[in-house]
Amino acid sequence: MLNARLQLKMRPRDEDVLVLYFHSVGLNRKSLLKVTAPGISIELQVLAEIIDCFYELGYRTVMPNELNDPCIPKKFLITFDDGYANNQQALPILSSYNACMVCFVSGRNVEFEEAFWWDVLWRERSRRHQSIDKYTVEKDMLKTLTSKQIRDYLLQNFGLEALKPLGEDDSPMTVKELQEFSRNKAIQIGNHTYDHEILVNLDSENELTTEITKNEQFLDRCQIVHVPAISYPNGNCSAPVVAAVRAAGMSWGFTTAADKYIGNNWTIGRFSISDDFPIRDQAIWCGADFKFYDTLRIIYQKCRVSRI
Ligand SMILES: [Zn+2]
Repeated sequence: MLNARLQLKMRPRDEDVLVLYFHSVGLNRKSLLKVTAPGISIELQVLAEIIDCFYELGYRTVMPNELNDPCIPKKFLITFDDGYANNQQALPILSSYNACMVCFVSGRNVEFEEAFWWDVLWRERSRRHQSIDKYTVEKDMLKTLTSKQIRDYLLQNFGLEALKPLGEDDSPMTVKELQEFSRNKAIQIGNHTYDHEILVNLDSENELTTEITKNEQFLDRCQIVHVPAISYPNGNCSAPVVAAVRAAGMSWGFTTAADKYIGNNWTIGRFSISDDFPIRDQAIWCGADFKFYDTLRIIYQKCRVSRI
């Protein structure tokens, strides 16, 4: 009886609107993990499996302006953060499913072809055989700093070449690649702040506005068509951040809280799906009527560990 009730609460509903987020994709998990931080990358075949699973459950991909469209039942929006060059490799998969996605880009990384700081930290600490726990503590410490402080820290600790990407797995798109990518009808480009600034770390309204508008100006300067949508770096937002985003003309703001979309356009939750858990289970948990997505993943992992 309890199980039947639980299944009812987990059944996909017509009014479901789910948003997924990813960062980096590639052919091989092992080679991705050499240069991109843990939890950042998924294999292309897993992305295809995820889209396939949502389609099989009756969901269809939409763009942000369709989130509230009552004529489209069971919607899901695919988003990618940061602007990794390898996102271009997802295009054939999107095309084969007639699916679409929004890519939220940080202009500075694209403009100066700089690697993303979390990948730099990961690769440098891995080279020094540091544990993942130590890396996590250091990464969390850096998240309390401004983007300039983080860059200075990396350059001081790892040398002047530290911000250079190593190859296609950790590079941001070049301006040319982003221009080409943005012309694909399956793609919309959104704002991820110019410096990948964790906006809640900024003190003044002026700094907040600059981070958002500087990225808009960068995209305009490169003649890249973009939508008024922002993904908050690290998912963090606050009332002043939302006020600045709205004042800058954004229509949608995306967090990383594992919540279904329920109509608030400036704190839209997103789900992270990984191949650490069964894909179909995660897809069903996203649509559940209760907010225990992260808890269910932890419980699953604990059960699995206890069985080993
Ligand atoms: Zn990001």
